[in-house]
This record gives sequence, C-alpha cells and structure tokens, in this order.
Amino acid sequence: RVPPSHVHRVVILGAHGVGKSSLVQQFSTSDFLHAYCASPDEDALERTVNVLLDGEESELSFLEQHDADVTSDYESEPHAFCVVFAATERSSFRLALDALERLWHSETVGTKAVILVANKTDLVRGRAVSTEEAKAAATQYDCKYIETSIAINHNVDELLVGLLTQIRLKLKDP
Ligand code: GDP
Repeated sequence: RVPPSHVHRVVILGAHGVGKSSLVQQFSTSDFLHAYCASPDEDALERTVNVLLDGEESELSFLEQHDADVTSDYESEPHAFCVVFAATERSSFRLALDALERLWHSETVGTKAVILVANKTDLVRGRAVSTEEAKAAATQYDCKYIETSIAINHNVDELLVGLLTQIRLKLKDP
C-alpha cells in the first residue's frame, strides 16, 4: 500500500468530449512510469492510478468533472486541477478559461498544481485555438501549459510526470 502522504487527488475538468476519460485511461497504461490502475472499476466516478516516479510510488485519484465549478464541495480537498480543452473546439477553451478564472479567485493557483491542457493537437487542420493564445492564458493565470494528443500518444506521459512533479513540489513548498 502507498502511504497516505503519497495519495493525491486530481480533478480533471473540461467540457464534454475533450478527452478526459481517454486521458485517465491512457495514464493507467504508461510503461515508462510503471503506472497501473489499482481498481479498474468501470463504473467508478474516481479512477485510481499508481505511478512510480523518481523511485517513489504515488497514488493518483482522478475525478472527472464536466463543468467549471471548481469551488464545489469536493468530498476531500483536491491536490491538483488539470484543466482540459480540445484545441479543435473554441467553446471548450472558453470553459477552460472560466475554470482558470475561478481557480484564480479561489486562490488555488499558487498553492496547488494547476495545468492547462490542450488536447487533440493531432487534428492540425481542425485547430481552433492557437498555441500562442493558450500559452498566454496559462501565463496570465500563472499555471503550467502542455499540448497533448491521446490519439497519437503525444505528451501523455509528460503530462502525468508534470502533474505529479507539481503536486510534490507544492506539498513540499506551498
Ligand atoms: P470526455 O467526455 O472529456 O471524457 O471525452 P472522451 O475521453 O470520452 O473523448 C471524446 C472523444 O474524443 C472520443 O471519441 C475520443 O476517442 C476522442 N479523443 C480523445 N482524445 C483525442 C485526441 O487526442 N485526438 C483525437 N483525434 N481524438 C481524441
């Protein structure tokens, strides 16, 4: 068992269809990180993935959320927020910005890991939100930014590493 200090809760939020479920699914099969799904319960709202990084095992518990209401009553306080939008869908970017705005006002940014994720970047011709624009938003809200494609497995391991690294850093030095 992983000690309680190494159990982290991550809220993955974003509009319907941006790839949240696919992302968590992909996280749980990373060879590089020896990641595996501890409780592969199809119906569970929360999916738990064990990850070995820098010789330490952590358990990440992912909660998927389809709206931007980041001040809702979570059963237990999250350690990180992963704000996902589809680079092909402008409306999903607006929802992501709404979430970042709310996180900003709740003073979560700064004390917790927050990452803005542009997914579906393999669909180059359908791109509706540019890298520059998304990066500028991340800078404005003082959070990390990464571009992923689950379809071609681009930057998915990197996102998982980034999330866990940020969580560990913020816990050490909030
Ligand atoms: P959720 O509603 O946010 O959980 O989104 P899903 O994970 O169910 O994904 C919605 C759809 O987008 C599915 O058909 C996925 O196969 C597809 N999808 C997810 N990620 C990508 C990606 O990076 N590229 C492409 N082309 N399709 C993706």
